[in-house]
Amino acid sequence: MQTPLIEIRDLVKTYRTPAGDFTAIKSLDVDVQRGEFVAIIGKSGSGKSTFINMLTGIDRPTSGSILIDGAPIHKFSEAQMAAWRGRTLGIVFQFFQLLPTLTILENVILPMELNRLYSKAERRARAMHLLEKVEMASQANKLPAAVSGGQQQRVAIARALANDPPLIVADEPTGNLDSKTAEKIFLLFEDLVASGKTILMVTHDSDLARRASRTILVSDGEVVNEYLVRALSTLTQDQLVEVVKHVKPQVYARDTAIIQEGEVGDKFYIILDGKVDVLIGGRGGGQVAVNQLGAGNYFGEMALLGDGVRTATVKVSSAGDVKVVALDKKAFDHLVGESRLLREELSRITAERAIPLRDHTTMRIKRSTLQGQQ
Ligand code: ADP
Ligand code: MG
Repeated sequence: MQTPLIEIRDLVKTYRTPAGDFTAIKSLDVDVQRGEFVAIIGKSGSGKSTFINMLTGIDRPTSGSILIDGAPIHKFSEAQMAAWRGRTLGIVFQFFQLLPTLTILENVILPMELNRLYSKAERRARAMHLLEKVEMASQANKLPAAVSGGQQQRVAIARALANDPPLIVADEPTGNLDSKTAEKIFLLFEDLVASGKTILMVTHDSDLARRASRTILVSDGEVVNEYLVRALSTLTQDQLVEVVKHVKPQVYARDTAIIQEGEVGDKFYIILDGKVDVLIGGRGGGQVAVNQLGAGNYFGEMALLGDGVRTATVKVSSAGDVKVVALDKKAFDHLVGESRLLREELSRITAERAIPLRDHTTMRIKRSTLQGQQ
């Protein structure tokens, strides 16, 4: 496997303020592979911008390391940082931050001039080409203030692409736009990913975040387990943060049954690490494995949605321990009541999971019928 484009280890950021120290990023470990489209979500004040600003070199970490394409940017001097940033990184901000006295075309040419990339003649042609890509070529000679917010953001994206960087980082790029305009901007990002760019985008919009290839949830300066986020991707950001606050990971040893078919149970489980086998067929009558589940999957929903009796046994695989979080029935019912998307997903999954259960029952009946005929 290729080395990740971004490797962040033990990143910590403490702001020193007159009122005392405040640690906005407590400990952050993240890898991002080339070509990924990563949505960064989390409540206001959770540390998303702090994280992004360290990634772009706008701010410096208190401790920890950031390697981007092998470059240890946490060790860079200001001059090294500026040169590196210009070639490697395209940055898009919430409030566009185009230079107001330069035309749209000049704004896009500027990064090429600053980094002395491309010849003079090429710069102009390249900028026009990029403006065409974002459908702003016809406005090239206007000042930023003469066009709408959505249009300014499209120019900002063209500017971010000026030096053809492999990585685009955007902090709430659609935060100041209406949903229709936001959609257009998002489509541009999707095009960029399709053309091979890697994108990290902070967003408040759960629907947009769901369309990224991966979601990082920041909560109180820490990254929440990504499998937990994936399992609950149908929830809104607020609902997710609420769940995260109330769950604690538990570890079960290999071969342990976490739930038993036929028993009454009132917990819903999400797998964070390891694998479990789903078995049916009672204890005496020879169990059959009907499914294996891994990180990001959940189980235990059937009893909670039905009569409370477990329809299958779920056992930790013999390969190794498993880490799960459990939600009690009250929390589960609350979420199901609140989230239509979760309800829909659960009904799809329970229908899918009911098939082997039904087949197995039919098989047992058939077998006993046959045995009866002998
Ligand atoms: P987000 O982008 O998720 O809304 P931020 O990263 O901007 O959050 O902020 C995280 C926390 O750090 C907040 O509590 C904020 O008040 C604090 N913070 C951000 N910047 C500074 C700063 N320059 N000095 C002191 N505290 C800061
Ligand atoms: Mg922010």
